[in-house]
Amino acid sequence: VSFAHFNFDNSVMDIIRKMEYSQPTGIQAQAIPAGLGGRDIIGIAKTGSGKTAAFLLPMIVHCIDQPEIKEGDGPIALVCAPTRELCQQIYHEARKFGKSYNLTVTCVYGGGSKWEQSNALKEGCEILVATPGRLIDLVRGKATNLQRVTYLVFDEADRMFDMGFEAQVRSIANHVRPDRQTMLFSATFRKKVEKLCRDVLADPVRIVV
Ligand code: AMP
Repeated sequence: VSFAHFNFDNSVMDIIRKMEYSQPTGIQAQAIPAGLGGRDIIGIAKTGSGKTAAFLLPMIVHCIDQPEIKEGDGPIALVCAPTRELCQQIYHEARKFGKSYNLTVTCVYGGGSKWEQSNALKEGCEILVATPGRLIDLVRGKATNLQRVTYLVFDEADRMFDMGFEAQVRSIANHVRPDRQTMLFSATFRKKVEKLCRDVLADPVRIVV
C-alpha cells in the first residue's frame, strides 16, 4: 500500500512528503481507509506503530471544509490521551498536519495553567488534544463545550484506565453527540478496554498490529 491509494488531496500529500513518510505503517494502511470511510476503529497498537498519524490524517480531512471558527466554538475533533507528554506529542503532530489548512489546534492537560488553557480555548479551535480530567474541569468552567465534536479519539485507553481516568473517559463519551465517529487505541486489549469499546464504539473495525 502507498499513501497515493488514499486519494488525499495535494495539500495532505505535501504534508506526508514533508514528514518524509515513504509508505504507510501497518496500522496506517488499515486505519486510514476505515477512518476516511467514517468507520469507528479499535486499534491495538503501541507507540512507534505510527498510530498518531493513523488517526490524525483522517481527522484533518474530517475538519477541512467546516465553517470558519468563531470565538467560543468548541472543537470538531477531540483527542483524549493519558499524559501531558503524550498530549504534547499529538499536539505537535496535529499542528504540522493542520497548518496548510489553517486548522487551530489547542492542547490542555493537568498541571498546566488552567487560566491560560481556558483563554486559549475561548478563542475557539477545530482540534483539541486533552487529558480527561482537565478537559472536564474546563468544560464545567464553560471554557469550551463538546457540542461540535464529531470525531473523537481515545489514545492509550489502557493507560487512561491505569491513571484512574475511567469515569472521566466515559463521561466525555457520554457528552459527545452519538452520531460521532470514534476511535480507540490501546496497547493491550484487557477486559476493561473491551467493555469500554462495547460502550463507546459503533460497529468498529478492529485492527491489531
Ligand atoms: P507514533 O507511533 O504515532 O508515536 O509514531 C512514531 C513515529 O513514527 C513518529 O515519529 C512518527 O512521525 C513516525 N511515523 C509515523 N508514520 C510514519 C510513516 N508512515 N513512515 C515513517 N515514519 C512514520
